[in-house]
Amino acid sequence: MLLTEQQEMIQKVARLIAKDHIEPRAAEVDRTGEFPWDNVRVMAENGLFGVHVPEEYGGVGGDMISHVAVVEEIAKVCASTSVINTTQALAMAPFLIAGNEEQKKKYIPLLAEGKILGSFGITEPGAGSDVSSAKTMAVREGDDYIINGQKIFITNAGLSEVYVIVARTSEDRTKGISLFIVEKGTPGLSFGKEEDKMGIRGSVTREVILENVRVGKGNLIGGENEGFKILMNVFNETRPVIGAQATGIAQGAFDYCLNYVKERKQFGRPISTFQMVQSEIANMAMKIESSRLLVQKAAEMLDRKDPNVIRYASMAKCVASDTAMEVTTNAVQLLGGYGYIKDYPVERMMRDAKITQIYEGTNQIQRVIIANQLLK
Ligand SMILES: Cc1cc2nc3c(=O)[nH]c(=O)nc-3n(C[C@H](O)[C@H](O)[C@H](O)COP(=O)(O)OP(=O)(O)OC[C@H]3O[C@@H](n4cnc5c(N)ncnc54)[C@H](O)[C@@H]3O)c2cc1C
Repeated sequence: MLLTEQQEMIQKVARLIAKDHIEPRAAEVDRTGEFPWDNVRVMAENGLFGVHVPEEYGGVGGDMISHVAVVEEIAKVCASTSVINTTQALAMAPFLIAGNEEQKKKYIPLLAEGKILGSFGITEPGAGSDVSSAKTMAVREGDDYIINGQKIFITNAGLSEVYVIVARTSEDRTKGISLFIVEKGTPGLSFGKEEDKMGIRGSVTREVILENVRVGKGNLIGGENEGFKILMNVFNETRPVIGAQATGIAQGAFDYCLNYVKERKQFGRPISTFQMVQSEIANMAMKIESSRLLVQKAAEMLDRKDPNVIRYASMAKCVASDTAMEVTTNAVQLLGGYGYIKDYPVERMMRDAKITQIYEGTNQIQRVIIANQLLK
């Protein structure tokens, strides 16, 4: 897809920052599991958290096509750092979609400018794919709500200053869900177990515990019981972004692999001269390009506010993340034994790719959504 001058300029900035600042430490961030605050700073200084956010809320005023281009560039070199960027977008989305003016003015500039981090607490021990079975309760008490519950697998939990929490406000499965803003430091909000993960090891994934957390009714995003609808709209915006993350991981592994097969010699010649290797290279390139085009199509549909975006957002996430898993696995294969060794980046990329098939709706759930949309 041909990018406009502005989209290309934003992509170029992201590429430069990724190459100069983020790539050099990617292996170390993976090895140590250290949260890369330096990368948060460099993304914040260069406006990379707020690419798609209107200027009036502290953003760059770009579009979704620019946003996915930025995420792809970062993911190409360091998936852990790209998760920080995509999680910030996930946390901002409910404010952008359904926040009132006061909430937007208070929180979006801080998040878009990277002055604080934000998290979105949806998942619970008993509510993963089935979000509507959430048990976290918010009970009205005068002008306040008292929230009790447990969230698991929450990205940036403990580091974020602001949390959007999915809580039940009535018994109806989907029409009984609401979204609440909970600030760090609110009495009763605490953080539990930090997960030890296969990949994206520089990203923090932790439990969020809510024990009699009292928030005012001004902390409700959208109306009471409107949370499920908002959540579905949030996912329409964030799934193409995960698709971009997956495309970046795949492209990073492919780029490394392409150079490697040209240089590695076996049977007296570069392995790139074997037809079976060439066929694999062609397959990888085709799949990456198809993923990118689908991600850009979904992003462009979001920019046009096309109501058919639902299935394209799911397709973009699903195709790109399946591609990332396949391409990174095959990149390891084409590097042979070296691919399995941590001195080479492709094993990290293979571990990082896996999560893109799981979070923000597993790929089975994406297929359910696509089929439902087509069959309705
Ligand atoms: C690193 C990481 C970061 C995360 N970050 C966040 C975050 O910031 N905020 C947040 O709220 N959550 C987050 N999550 C949670 C993530 O979104 C969930 O793990 C995911 O949605 C799947 O839920 P589950 O783990 O409960 O799996 P389950 O829902 O139990 O699914 C188990 C298996 O059953 C399949 N399955 C379930 N239902 C169906 C169906 N109807 N049809 C076919 N197959 C089905 C699934 O596809 C999967 O293969 C994160 C998870 C991880 C691992």
